[in-house]
Amino acid sequence: MLASLTDYLDGALPPGRRAGVAAHLGSCPGCAAWLAQLRATIAALRCLRDGVVPAPVLAALRDSFGR
Ligand SMILES: [Zn+2]
Repeated sequence: MLASLTDYLDGALPPGRRAGVAAHLGSCPGCAAWLAQLRATIAALRCLRDGVVPAPVLAALRDSFGR
């Protein structure tokens, strides 16, 4: 499932699989939380590359990691 989720984030899944993953995310809190965490991590990495991490991104990271 995790590989499908990264493809889902990348927009790399064919439409049929994409719909399946979206349906799964709607019914699986674990995967939904993991995806939120992955999104926040990717946003933070992007900011780090730019040399700046905005406060909202840091807050989202803290929330998603439960700290
Ligand atoms: Zn799941």
